[in-house]
Amino acid sequence: MESAPLLEVRGLVKHYKKFRAVDGLDLQIQGGEIVGLLGPNGAGKTTALRCIAGILKATEGTVRIAGFDLERDTARAKAALAFVPEVPSLYELLTVDEHLRFVAMCYDSLDVYERIRDDLLARYSLTEKRDALVATLSKGMKQKVAVACALVHEARVMLFDEPLIGIDPAGAAELKREIRAARDRGCAVLVSTHLLDTAETLCDRVVILARGRKLAEGTLQELRAASHLESGTLEEVFLKLTDEGAQAAGVFDV
Ligand code: ATP
Repeated sequence: MESAPLLEVRGLVKHYKKFRAVDGLDLQIQGGEIVGLLGPNGAGKTTALRCIAGILKATEGTVRIAGFDLERDTARAKAALAFVPEVPSLYELLTVDEHLRFVAMCYDSLDVYERIRDDLLARYSLTEKRDALVATLSKGMKQKVAVACALVHEARVMLFDEPLIGIDPAGAAELKREIRAARDRGCAVLVSTHLLDTAETLCDRVVILARGRKLAEGTLQELRAASHLESGTLEEVFLKLTDEGAQAAGVFDV
């Protein structure tokens, strides 16, 4: 029998005034799965991730994280979650070490941080910056600190919004290794990205959003069947499905 999903999203709707940025999203991710969240600009990926992370209040729908309802059991749901946002929002006047300690303390995980600190800082080339103020870091270094913040507690569900943008090749390789390691220790991972070649090699399956709705979901093989492209790459399949979706919705490029 299949176990309960670690991340369960049902009927998620998010309005910005009258505009439905997310329009009835259902999504389940089991422990041990990496799911890619794909979609054209404005499809609703960031909005969906921010609702799942509890940063935005959903207009409708439910989110369960590791079995805890985000609305009714917020603290326990959030304790099981790590979210790396597209634009890191860090405390600029803390040093890197203070920042990571602070986040670890919020999750009651100072012991975890102290155990992994030297290795974590080294893996993301932050050792030299350990005592530097966050305000003095480069953009990519700030992104690495945001990633490190997600690793200082033992999350069971991990959300990454465009995590590879702005990170150097060594950092990107480390992050991909990290995401696979999270999957291998049983986490449910949801990663939004426009990098379709990365999604193809990293993700076990993908969800394609367009105009706030799920256009398609599945493994590359399943999406090939849905798009009648026997041997297409994820990029080819994505472009065909999103183009057909736009035509069906009456949206055309001009
Ligand atoms: P991208 O790939 O460009 O990052 P996305 O798929 O992450 O896009 P969102 O950022 O979720 O898309 O935006 C979805 C839609 O909601 C867009 O039409 C956007 O303009 C709109 N939107 C996002 N934030 C707000 C806001 N605060 N107020 C009003 N509309 C918003």
